[in-house]
Amino acid sequence: MVQGARLVILGRQGAGKGTQCMRLARHYVVPHISTGDIFRASVKAGSEFGLKADEYMRAGRLVPDEIVVGVVRERLCLRDAQLRGFILDGFPRTAAQAGALDQMLEEERMPLDLTIDLEIEEEQALRRLAARRVCSTCASIYSTDRRPSIDWTCDNCGGEVVQRQDDTEEAIRKRLADYNELTKPLIAWYEARGQLTTIDAVGTPEAVLDRLVSAIDEAKRVDSDSTRGAS
Ligand code: AMP
Repeated sequence: MVQGARLVILGRQGAGKGTQCMRLARHYVVPHISTGDIFRASVKAGSEFGLKADEYMRAGRLVPDEIVVGVVRERLCLRDAQLRGFILDGFPRTAAQAGALDQMLEEERMPLDLTIDLEIEEEQALRRLAARRVCSTCASIYSTDRRPSIDWTCDNCGGEVVQRQDDTEEAIRKRLADYNELTKPLIAWYEARGQLTTIDAVGTPEAVLDRLVSAIDEAKRVDSDSTRGAS
């Protein structure tokens, strides 16, 4: 069965997580839960919460764990995630977030199918981030090499395609440093639990998607074989 999956996608900024998560969400028909997109939407809505998140985001700093964990907890409790699964993009990013996620998934009896590290070298990530452009309405991702077909308007929704406010050189460097210090150790943590697969993020979006789908389908197949074996 193709539909349904519970996935965590890790990888440094610029690995293409957003692009691939959108495609995976369509493939497995599950919600794409991007904490960055959730924060950007609240900034756009001008809520008090959004104003607070905006301060952190503009500086390329992480939003405090307790705020992010609360946002994810609320989202995972919605019906679509409960029934079909989810793709977590940009969460967890710290050991505290990973621990909180573990606890949430155990409480909700929603075991992960797989955690994926989308792997890319830092130099290439920097180049991709400098070229990245996003739709300010639906968050679709483009780049100066892969432009929308009509004059920086989104091919999906017609929204304006712009450079992200936190894609400045200074904020990018801060985010990559935080990734190395706080998020990269999670890769070893998931690996030690036998829950991690590493996928090469270099190649066309289609080629990377094919690699991801093969790895996820294999993990789902092994899961369902072991469930059948146990019953
Ligand atoms: P992203 O779109 O994933 O690059 O996230 C954009 C910004 O949102 C980050 O630079 C952080 O300021 C904030 N953010 C997103 N996800 C998290 C998270 N899991 N923990 C802390 N801050 C986050």
